[in-house]
Amino acid sequence: MFAEPLVEKTYTGFDFFKLDTFMTDQHRALRLRVQDFVQLVVLPGINPYWDRAEFPREIAMQIADLGIIGGVIRGYGSAGLDPLEVGLTMYELAKGDGSITTFYGVHSGLAMSSIGLLGSDEQRQRWLPDMAALRKIGAFGLTEPLQGSDAVNVRTTARKDGDSYILNGDKRWIGNASIADLLIIWARDEEGAFGGFVIEDPSQVEGLDIQDITGKIGKRAILNADIHLDQVRIPAANRLAKVRSFKDMAKVLGLGRFGVAWEAAGIAAGAFELALDYAKQREQFGKPIAARQLVQQKLVEMATEVSAMQLICFQMTQLLASNQLSEGVASMAKYNNARKARYVTQLARETMGGNGLLVENHVARLMTDAEVVYTYEGTNEINMLIVGRELTGLNAII
Ligand SMILES: Cc1cc2nc3c(=O)[nH]c(=O)nc-3n(C[C@H](O)[C@H](O)[C@H](O)COP(=O)(O)OP(=O)(O)OC[C@H]3O[C@@H](n4cnc5c(N)ncnc54)[C@H](O)[C@@H]3O)c2cc1C
Repeated sequence: MFAEPLVEKTYTGFDFFKLDTFMTDQHRALRLRVQDFVQLVVLPGINPYWDRAEFPREIAMQIADLGIIGGVIRGYGSAGLDPLEVGLTMYELAKGDGSITTFYGVHSGLAMSSIGLLGSDEQRQRWLPDMAALRKIGAFGLTEPLQGSDAVNVRTTARKDGDSYILNGDKRWIGNASIADLLIIWARDEEGAFGGFVIEDPSQVEGLDIQDITGKIGKRAILNADIHLDQVRIPAANRLAKVRSFKDMAKVLGLGRFGVAWEAAGIAAGAFELALDYAKQREQFGKPIAARQLVQQKLVEMATEVSAMQLICFQMTQLLASNQLSEGVASMAKYNNARKARYVTQLARETMGGNGLLVENHVARLMTDAEVVYTYEGTNEINMLIVGRELTGLNAII
């Protein structure tokens, strides 16, 4: 459906430093495709779902037509994108809506990357083609009620029993869990080794209880769940083959931080563009509010922060593409962009006055999306401390 750009033939998003001129036609085409999806499908439809805190299945499933699922994974029906295409995808989706971005990020990023990077070839063959076509939805269960930032010390256990593993424990905040066909649970085995255990068809599995968390103020249209595992039996063949330590799995989190840094830039850019349009149209005291110095100060502040975020993302992507991206750089990008997204969305919200508080004008939704981004994929403090560790060689996290 979205094979060719439908709305715009040239990119109209904010791009003060002309980063578009450093992209290939392939990058531009992909960016326009995702932009069209956001303008034609996401923005017109998302707000009622957000209001009701309901997953917008009919919107989310159209992502299958965009050629973006599976990110950088090659083969198995996956999109086989390059790092800049992954970043641009996250950026453009986030300009529209954070819930859709997280649905994509959890399924295509966290869940598929876990299988793509850490599964055997047989496991990749078994699960990735259906996930790439969105016939099966994935979820990634790491966080627990008692182990958030300290997820390295997960309490969930996996005990070998013949050809099975028996899983026991609790997980919290797990995105897509209640709609997932494949739920990856991270746990420690009896030897203390870290492992990823894939639960297929969770709704049919005995001993598994999944309850959506209610009352969430950001990303309301993606459902996050509490999970209780009581003697859940899965085939031993469902343990991801290439992971024995938290460090092995951290490769997936590193890619996640890369994507979330782009996401934060997209949220901020989306809010800024809305505020700029509004300020040029809204008249008070006989003039557009954009003609006032105090309003221009906010607009310039937002434009500067968004540009800095874009430049960080662009250079981070060059580093990833040339195998030079360190954990600290990805964390610095996430740290900077998440906190700046919070700042920019608040400036955008206030520039739009009372209208900025209405979900129908989108910016309030983006502002609460920024709150979630500030906390997930490593909180702001944890990402800051990862940078600190790389700068000093001293670990201040534990
Ligand atoms: C909407 C949403 C979606 C999510 N999706 C998923 C998902 O799909 N899968 C999944 O596994 N998880 C998911 N998470 C969980 C997320 O990764 C955690 O919320 C995050 O890691 C923080 O854990 P916590 O909330 O338990 O906070 P805590 O770890 O309890 O932190 C509370 C505060 O203490 C600070 N803190 C903690 N340790 C230190 C330290 N050593 N030094 C300084 N400060 C510290 C933190 O920075 C934070 O400010 C999601 C969370 C949210 C909110």
